[in-house]
Amino acid sequence: MAILKVANMGNPVLRHEAEPVTSRDLKSLPVQQLIDDMIETLVEYRGVGLAGPQVHESRRIILVDRSAGEDPEDGILVLVNPVITEASEATDEDWEGCLSIPDIRGRVVRASQIVVESRDRKGRDQALSVSGFTARIMQHEIDHLDGVLFLDRMTDMLSLTFLPEYGRYWIDDSD
Ligand code: ZN
Repeated sequence: MAILKVANMGNPVLRHEAEPVTSRDLKSLPVQQLIDDMIETLVEYRGVGLAGPQVHESRRIILVDRSAGEDPEDGILVLVNPVITEASEATDEDWEGCLSIPDIRGRVVRASQIVVESRDRKGRDQALSVSGFTARIMQHEIDHLDGVLFLDRMTDMLSLTFLPEYGRYWIDDSD
């Protein structure tokens, strides 16, 4: 296990479309090791989600920490080649941050509910129906696989804030 270096905004790896992971690749030791290292990295940085490109691996692998949302017992989900197959018309606006854009927060509109089809780390098909904060993290992480950052999704830059100012001026308005 190893803690991986996180790519910051400006690194071209964050703007590339990531490669799908083949079944054969997924079973390989290096990819299984990568997933373990990504989990360790997510925990170390106290993030709620992480995508391959953020650790300089342009592969379609994301992690979503469900304990940050409404299912505390579920822990960290591993999604390989995730695809959003359904998205609600209903949307929510809420704060987002990103390990690749340190100490910045901004409000982003996302679908309230989505269905995501993917493989788990053992290669088994999984379809997940998620809502609320978990759905938000998942959309944010899947965006990373297409080279999209949450700043690109902001429709109103007025909420863009540094973390100290977020704590000082905005946190009470977060709901
Ligand atoms: Zn991010």
